Amino acid sequence: MNSIQEKQIFKPFTGNTFRFSCHKGIVCFTECCAKLRLILTPYDILRMKNRLKLTSDQFLELYTDTIIDNNSRFPMVKLKMSGEQEQACPFVTNDGCSIYEDRPEACRLYPVGRASAMVDGEKDARQRFFMVAESHCQGFQEKRRWVLDDWMNHEGVKEYRSMNDQWLGIITSPKSLGPEKHLPQKHQMFFMASYNLDKFRDFLFKSGFFDRFQVDSDLKEKLHRNDTILMLFAFDWLKFSLFGEKTIQLKS
Ligand code: SF4
Ligand code: SF4
Repeated sequence: MNSIQEKQIFKPFTGNTFRFSCHKGIVCFTECCAKLRLILTPYDILRMKNRLKLTSDQFLELYTDTIIDNNSRFPMVKLKMSGEQEQACPFVTNDGCSIYEDRPEACRLYPVGRASAMVDGEKDARQRFFMVAESHCQGFQEKRRWVLDDWMNHEGVKEYRSMNDQWLGIITSPKSLGPEKHLPQKHQMFFMASYNLDKFRDFLFKSGFFDRFQVDSDLKEKLHRNDTILMLFAFDWLKFSLFGEKTIQLKS
């Protein structure tokens, strides 16, 4: 998961530290918040829609585009750029990011990028870091030096990563999706459970789901009112419904 801009230069992350600082007085302030292809994860969307007090439908309609291409098994969602020629992030202001505390993981990690994949049987994602060294970014000229781990702690990356890696296990799974004729239906299920939590909640509570699957009353109550628990349950549901994993139990 990453953001891709024009004129970007990916450099391998060598050593354990990098020089970087970003602040309001810097000449390039907010230049990096434009011309983005910023892929959003379910947890990115959850945080932003709740920050903006929008329903899932409203957020997806106003702020995202869906991408269906041959490079991915599943539909992806990217942040819709706005303004003149649709070049700028809709949340950028003269004072910086207007949703700073709830900005997506890729924005937190920048100017570091991360390529990652889950491997079956392994608990943690395999990952490789690189620097997104864009020519306009003056942050690399600043004196402050960061250890990568300290940077991620400072930017709140780890909470996002623990959520996003669970979804990464689904989108990078080598398991078969079954017969081709079922793909459109599986893509629809993937889209709803990944990106539209309100619809997924309706699916659970209005479709007789709890008559067919074992879900204890405590969890049922949490699914009703806690979006993060609902999202994690949606990941279990996707593993069950897409790949036939035994993550959810049918009632006998
Ligand atoms: S220093 Fe780099 S990250 Fe900070 S505003 Fe400038 S371009 Fe963006
Ligand atoms: S969400 Fe915030 S940090 Fe990310 S591109 Fe938009 S304005 Fe910049």
